[in-house]
Amino acid sequence: MRVVGTFGEVRELSVGTVGLVPTMGFLHEGHLSLIEAAAKDNDTIVVSLFVNPLQFNEAGDLDRYPSDLDRDRSMAEAAGADILFAPDVSYMYGADPRTSIGIAGVADAMEGAHRPGHFDGVATVVAKLFAGTQPDASYFGRKDAQQLAVVRTMAGDLSFPTRIVGMPIVREADGLALSSRNVQLDTDARVRAVALSSAMFDVADAFDSGERGAGRLIDIATSRLSTAQDIEVEYVEVARAVDASVASSVESLSFLAVAAIVGGVRLIDNVHLDPMAGVADRGIRLTEPSTLYGGR
Ligand code: AMP
Repeated sequence: MRVVGTFGEVRELSVGTVGLVPTMGFLHEGHLSLIEAAAKDNDTIVVSLFVNPLQFNEAGDLDRYPSDLDRDRSMAEAAGADILFAPDVSYMYGADPRTSIGIAGVADAMEGAHRPGHFDGVATVVAKLFAGTQPDASYFGRKDAQQLAVVRTMAGDLSFPTRIVGMPIVREADGLALSSRNVQLDTDARVRAVALSSAMFDVADAFDSGERGAGRLIDIATSRLSTAQDIEVEYVEVARAVDASVASSVESLSFLAVAAIVGGVRLIDNVHLDPMAGVADRGIRLTEPSTLYGGR
């Protein structure tokens, strides 16, 4: 695997079909599942590692974001990456970035409403990654369900010739969705954080039993979240997967999403609800502790 810092190097080293996995690093099994999926379908696997300042709406959050290049390098290589693209901020944006991509509608609710400017930053960096690495296919997690809708919309509207592949949420053994931010939870908050995934599983059970009303599904999630102490819920919403528009009932592929602050750490989770199949997607659970905590 080669570690490079410019798009020119990525293109020079790429042969055959290119699969791109954009990340902000501090890799975990959720990222690895994307890299492994990309490696099955493509000749050259590019993993980007860039903590994108444009998508952080709070400076403290950016400063606290975990990073460890050596750790990421060996994990990405073991999962099948050929190129690790880890650019400097100055390479990506120069001294004075002038162009920003805004996505109307898809970016308005949920994360967009609570994190002003977040999706402009996401869309801008992903557009640059698509333009610079020219991937045939690009892999994103459904953990960030609204982000997936934003990226699909942006890629379609700007005619980027890349296939967007959405992958299931990977969870820790007790259900908590994997996130690089999980390492910021103290022991007590880590235990309480399980309320998010428990709420998602309650919703999944209700959906599997035939519940399609968004209000009722939201109530089910909210009531489970209210049993946990010291969890500050920012939103619980049901939205259509295609465009992240808020829905009052589940009539097409949708997701119920939650954002909450636990012990000072902002976490998100969701459950995808497919009315055609009649089943909720609870994601994939690890059987062992995550590598996030120094294992393996
Ligand atoms: P991040 O490094 O958090 O920006 O995430 C990079 C990519 O990994 C995004 O497409 C995320 O949706 C995806 N991802 C993050 N956490 C998970 C997870 N627990 N399961 C599946 N994909 C994930």
